[in-house]
Amino acid sequence: MSEPFVTRFAPSPTGRPHRGHAFSALTAWTAAMKAGGRFLLRIEDIDAERCRPQYEAAIYEDLIWLGLDWEEPVRRQSEHLSDYQAALERLAAEGLVYRCFRTRKEVAQAIASAPHGPTGDAQALTAGPLHPHEEDRFLEEDRPFAWRLSMAAAKAALGPRWDGLSYEEDGRGRLPVDPATGGDVVLGRKGLGVAYHLAVVVDDALQAVTHVIRGEDLIEAVPVQRLLQELLALPEPVYRHHRLILDQEGRRFAKRRGGETVADLRAAGMDPAALRGELGFS
Ligand code: GLU
Repeated sequence: MSEPFVTRFAPSPTGRPHRGHAFSALTAWTAAMKAGGRFLLRIEDIDAERCRPQYEAAIYEDLIWLGLDWEEPVRRQSEHLSDYQAALERLAAEGLVYRCFRTRKEVAQAIASAPHGPTGDAQALTAGPLHPHEEDRFLEEDRPFAWRLSMAAAKAALGPRWDGLSYEEDGRGRLPVDPATGGDVVLGRKGLGVAYHLAVVVDDALQAVTHVIRGEDLIEAVPVQRLLQELLALPEPVYRHHRLILDQEGRRFAKRRGGETVADLRAAGMDPAALRGELGFS
C-alpha cells in the first residue's frame, strides 16, 4: 500500500482571493490528485478582527469556479478554539509559556536596546516572565497579556534534540532550523485568543496532514512550527514551499491592493481554464 498523502489549502478570509491564492490552491490540489491522496480546505479565521464572512464565501466561490473540490466538512478554526486552548494549557502546565504584559511597542524597544542585539538571547528580547508578585499584581489589575513561548524553557525541555531540530523540505532533504532567532513568539492572548502558529500545528496534526504545501513566504514559520510539534509530541509533516506568483511589476500579490482578484478576472470574462493555464496547470 502506498504512503498516505494528505495536504491542505489553508487561507485566511481577510480579503478576496487573488492569483497567488489560486496558484497555492491549485498546487496543493494537483499534488494530492497526482499522489492519489486527499485535499483538505481549512479556513484560518481565528483573527476575528480581520476575517469577514464575505471573504470566506469568496474562497468557496472562487475555488469551485477554478474546478477544485475538497473534503467536507471544511475545518473552520473559529469553531475549534478549545482545541488550541488545550494545546496552550498543555504548554503552560509544562512551564513552556509565560505571560508577557509588555505591549508590542515595549517589546520592540526592549529588542532595540538588548545588549546582544536582535539575535541575542531570546529571553532578553521580551524580558521573560515577571516575578511572581508582580505578575499577581498585574493579573489583579486585569491587565492584558500575551502568552509567549519561552525559548529558554523549550531548549531545556528538548535537551539534545534542540540542536538537531530540522525539517524536511520535499526534494531538498532535511534542513536545520533555529527557532530561537525570532525570540519568544506569542502563542496566545488573555482570554480565548490563540495565535496562528499554534492553530496551524494543532490542525495539521488533527487533520493528519502529511504534506504542508504553501507559499515560500511561510518558510519563516517553519522553525517555530517544528518546535511546537516537538514540544506537543505531534507528528512531523513534510513541507513543500512553492514559489510566489508576482504581478506585472514583479511585486507579490497582496490582498490590500485592489483589482486582480479572482472575482475581477472572472468579471472581466476570463475563463477558469485560461487562469489555470496561465498559472501553469492544465
Ligand atoms: N493561513 C495562512 C495564510 O493565509 C496559511 C497557513 C499555512 O498554510 O500554514 O497565509
